[in-house]
Amino acid sequence: MSNVYSTICPGCNFGCGLYIRENGAIDIDFRKSSPANAGKLCRFGMNLPKLYAPVKSMIDGKEVTLEDAAKEAAKRISAGSTAFLSFGNTTCEELLAFQKVATSYLCTGVNFDALPKDTYQTLSVGIPYSEIEAAKHIVLFIDPYEQYPLIVRRLLSAKKKGAKITAVWWKALPIANETIKPADVSKLQLSKDSLIISDFHPMSDADQVKNVLALAKNAGARVTFLKPFANSTGAYILSKDAKQKSHGALVDDINKGTIKTLFCLESDPSILPAETLAKLTNIIVQSGSAISDKANIIIAHEPLYKKKGTLINNEGRAQALGGAGTNGLDALGIMAGAKFEFNALHESVKKAIGISTVDEFTVPKYDRPAYSAIQAAPKPFEAKTALVSVYNPFMWFNLADDNDFVELNLNTVRSLKLLKGGTLKIKSNGSSIEKKFKVAPVQDNVIISAKKFGIEKGMLTPVEILR
Ligand code: SF4
Repeated sequence: MSNVYSTICPGCNFGCGLYIRENGAIDIDFRKSSPANAGKLCRFGMNLPKLYAPVKSMIDGKEVTLEDAAKEAAKRISAGSTAFLSFGNTTCEELLAFQKVATSYLCTGVNFDALPKDTYQTLSVGIPYSEIEAAKHIVLFIDPYEQYPLIVRRLLSAKKKGAKITAVWWKALPIANETIKPADVSKLQLSKDSLIISDFHPMSDADQVKNVLALAKNAGARVTFLKPFANSTGAYILSKDAKQKSHGALVDDINKGTIKTLFCLESDPSILPAETLAKLTNIIVQSGSAISDKANIIIAHEPLYKKKGTLINNEGRAQALGGAGTNGLDALGIMAGAKFEFNALHESVKKAIGISTVDEFTVPKYDRPAYSAIQAAPKPFEAKTALVSVYNPFMWFNLADDNDFVELNLNTVRSLKLLKGGTLKIKSNGSSIEKKFKVAPVQDNVIISAKKFGIEKGMLTPVEILR
């Protein structure tokens, strides 16, 4: 007999619904009634059985029970100097419990601190996808195909109704009527009919985010920020008033030695540089999927599809997971020295969102308060050649993907005298890697990668390229 769960893909904050069938192995079935995706899934969604490979609780390489792992974690956390990291890839209820454990140091990854407080709401909750389909002019600061693939259907629908699409990107995107280089963004013409689609994540450059907000503000245009984790929106709404740190602040504090233990809830520690992780005494990962081989302690709770709880997608739509599991809450309770009751947390979540029931077919009304004018002057990128990392679900989840190549244009291939079917050397800060390449309509002096190679310094990495 098989168990079937109606669930949400954790790959990004788009909130695609699907069924997961457990039948010895894990299979996926399409859920046509899902309002975000009408049953369709991208390549990452189709690869979910790989993400949900079973994971076991461990202490220093030895298999233990979840309870023992959580007790040992509590002991090591109580020594102090602990940071608590969660990007928002779990339920709102678990995130509320997590905030009660993480009072000393909460890291949600994104750099809210560097942004004006009155923009938090705009950054946290996007707009309904129906508004994207109805827009007259859409400006993309993302590569929709790679980063948030299910939005492509909404963009095509808008285009069919006559929308013009402008991309501000390093590569000509087939869906766009025109592409403007990011360095030439001042040429972008916006009006109050324009809708800007950008994204907001732990690697976002605060100046770039401010620039997008300022462009929208000055033109009276709308703006929406897509996000990478299933419950990023829920995490930001729930932690807006909490004292939280960014990914950059966490890296600094670990490097300085003020943080010695890192507790990650459904978040991959390898998002931090390897040399930073090496400075930690303890890495504790609580997760339902195999996201880290670096942890000293793994607290293996149920996978997301077996959990009970609420996720908020990018539109602000509250979606109920179809499971009944609360192992994750129980483990957090051991660390807090208290029992977390699901129902009480669920009531607090509904209150924070302003809803009385979780109904995936209704997008609640959110305030979109006007934010003040923003001074934005993004720094020009000085390096001659840049590696552009196109952050996508496979990268965020460290899941194997076959995109083991970089994209560059024909001018670059010719100037380096690269051979068809050959490789390219990429050097950065003393590291050197050799990669296959594909020719694509990429701008000069840029190479694009949708895979993490380990030499990156953020979205843009200065590199030297040679044959
Ligand atoms: S990764 Fe995002 S776009 Fe792809 S199926 Fe999952 S939720 Fe949908």
